[in-house]
Amino acid sequence: MLYIFDFDYTLFDTAVFKQDYFKQFEDLAYDPNNLRLEHFKENVIHYNIKEHLDLLGDNLKDHNKSVETLNVFLSDLKRYLFPGAEEVLMKLKNEGHKLILMSLGNLEFQKSKILGSGIEKFFEQIIITPGSKALLLEKINIGEEQVIIVNDNAQESLEMMKLIDNAKLFLIESRYSQNDEGIETHDLQELLSFK
Ligand SMILES: [Mg+2]
Repeated sequence: MLYIFDFDYTLFDTAVFKQDYFKQFEDLAYDPNNLRLEHFKENVIHYNIKEHLDLLGDNLKDHNKSVETLNVFLSDLKRYLFPGAEEVLMKLKNEGHKLILMSLGNLEFQKSKILGSGIEKFFEQIIITPGSKALLLEKINIGEEQVIIVNDNAQESLEMMKLIDNAKLFLIESRYSQNDEGIETHDLQELLSFK
């Protein structure tokens, strides 16, 4: 089988990560309640470290030290993986399934999060896009394989399903999983028994 995984809120507890990431600025910025800081908290999908630090400007105590502190924070993010995420990925890979990771957001920041969480080794292909995932599906060689989409975002998943003939959806419970189609939501750990 071919599994197309999403990253944020599917494998990775992005809500807790976001809180902890922006907490770093309590030490790095003079005024952590600055509006420009708030702007980035709200617009985190296309978050870009450089752009953020540039915008904070004089509010940062030390630009270079901020870069270093954020890089250290991003270098180990294993604790933000959902319980069982690594085991699920390892088992599927060991069973011979093909795993692909598709993630939406800023290329550099998403890459840091994925590498920091240490799961890149499980995937044959990692695709990061700032735009629509559906548009990138043609980059994946699907062939005749049965596809399972593992994603928390109901709307995004439904768009992807329309473009793949042989796809099933394993929808992860999150703030984005609500849908009018009656698709039930799951815990990641139930994936191993999903056929
Ligand atoms: Mg997601």
